[in-house]
Amino acid sequence: MVSEEYDVIIVGGGPAGLTAGLYTSRARLSSLLLEKGVMGGQIVEAELVENYPGFAEGISGMELSQLMHQQATKYGLKTIIAEVTGIELQDEQKVIKTTKGNFTAKAVIIASGSERQKLGVPGEKELTGKGVSYCATCDAPFFTDQPIAIVGGGDAAITEALHLAKFASRVTVIHRRDQLRATRILQEKAFSEPKIEFLWSTVVDEIEGKDVVERLKLRQVITGAKSALDVAGIFVSIGLKPNTDYLKGVLPLDDLGHIITNENMETEIPGIFAAGDVRHNSARQAICAAGDGATAAHYAQKFISR
Ligand SMILES: Cc1cc2nc3c(=O)[nH]c(=O)nc-3n(C[C@H](O)[C@H](O)[C@H](O)COP(=O)(O)OP(=O)(O)OC[C@H]3O[C@@H](n4cnc5c(N)ncnc54)[C@H](O)[C@@H]3O)c2cc1C
Repeated sequence: MVSEEYDVIIVGGGPAGLTAGLYTSRARLSSLLLEKGVMGGQIVEAELVENYPGFAEGISGMELSQLMHQQATKYGLKTIIAEVTGIELQDEQKVIKTTKGNFTAKAVIIASGSERQKLGVPGEKELTGKGVSYCATCDAPFFTDQPIAIVGGGDAAITEALHLAKFASRVTVIHRRDQLRATRILQEKAFSEPKIEFLWSTVVDEIEGKDVVERLKLRQVITGAKSALDVAGIFVSIGLKPNTDYLKGVLPLDDLGHIITNENMETEIPGIFAAGDVRHNSARQAICAAGDGATAAHYAQKFISR
């Protein structure tokens, strides 16, 4: 059943989607944005965003998201909380299937971003929300004065370790390599933080606990030596997975599942655009996602007027 028709439908309410919506609404195209979770996307999790131009003193990710949402809806962008489950092509129209019914559009901008990779070890699923977390900004205060671990070695993991050190009694960074991937300035901050310690070349084999996380079973990848670490919580920050499962068979994706576009954000299918972290080779930064969203909206407008 088709419920409503729009000029443009945007999938995802992160910086890319909200910027695309701002541009398409200001172009007087009827525009609908569909978001499955929290409006704002991943940036909501950032305690302080210091590299978004225009905010010289930095701004919290939550506030930045709210401002983006406010600005886009002011010009007429309609938003609905619904998960997109598939896209079907019917002649010139695109049918967007969602958990709240079907919608059609002349053009679609996919801005569904990415989400945290899981460790995939025993105990992870069972203890999620009971000591296993994927969001340090959201959950750090629950571990005040308690020992915790964080898995990962990139910018996100080290930023989060520094944030967690403000609350926890001890933060153990568990990294499968013998050095961090994080930028030098973050590494320097982490190495000089007395509450942060490092377990190099180590992986988590299992998360144990009766009702909540109690300990981790660890393995040194070079020697194979096994050990256990008592913790009250474990944060997982090992990378991102693009949210494109609902697009399999619709659009060409790269090996990791990102959408391939040209510099106009056009995909192989006329009228379907992609923007932000969901794109192949995206810089995974809020400002780049916003820029992609603006570009996608610009070319979507041209596509429709053609
Ligand atoms: C902790 C943290 C700190 C960060 N700090 C910074 C920083 O300081 N500076 C910076 O520039 N960047 C930072 N980033 C990265 C930045 O947040 C991302 O690059 C940016 O949010 C990507 O925007 P996006 O719109 O492409 O995707 P996302 O922000 O991932 O938004 C995608 C949205 O689509 C929704 N969605 C997914 N699938 C569907 C579906 N099927 N149906 C409907 N909706 C769907 C998701 O729920 C999500 O809201 C940080 C990220 C994290 C996690």
